[in-house]
Amino acid sequence: MYLTVHSSAALVIAKFIPNPLVAFIAGLASHFVLDAIPHGDEHLMREHFPTWRNLRRPVGAAVIDGIVMLFLLLIYVATTPLISYTTLGLTIAGAVLPDLLQAIYIVFKPSWLKWFYSFHLKIHNFTGHKIHWTQGLLVQGMVLAACWLIVM
Ligand SMILES: [Zn+2]
Repeated sequence: MYLTVHSSAALVIAKFIPNPLVAFIAGLASHFVLDAIPHGDEHLMREHFPTWRNLRRPVGAAVIDGIVMLFLLLIYVATTPLISYTTLGLTIAGAVLPDLLQAIYIVFKPSWLKWFYSFHLKIHNFTGHKIHWTQGLLVQGMVLAACWLIVM
């Protein structure tokens, strides 16, 4: 799923789990739970990441996604009674860490991350139910809306 959705789920976790370490672990776990839901980008890593030329599209999407994520986080911090920045930061870090590790593996191919890359792909294809990316946008939009309805 997009970083925007993962970080929005982290907001929900940080709202209800004040302990930073527990919230970090819950954020990390939430990443895999959300990635197991069919969300339309499961094919991206298989089909678009193997060559540098094909990296342009997912990198462009990630940049836009990151900007939207930061914009939503700023809105949240500016409009919501303060929860601990430590808890919030660690929860978001846990929620987006798997995709960061995935990106590190794709770019630098360190052998110590190969098991994680394979694990992450297996989670993405856990249900074996493939949907079109436009349907995936709808799924991710629904998860995003649910998260924001909970945190606001
Ligand atoms: Zn992921």
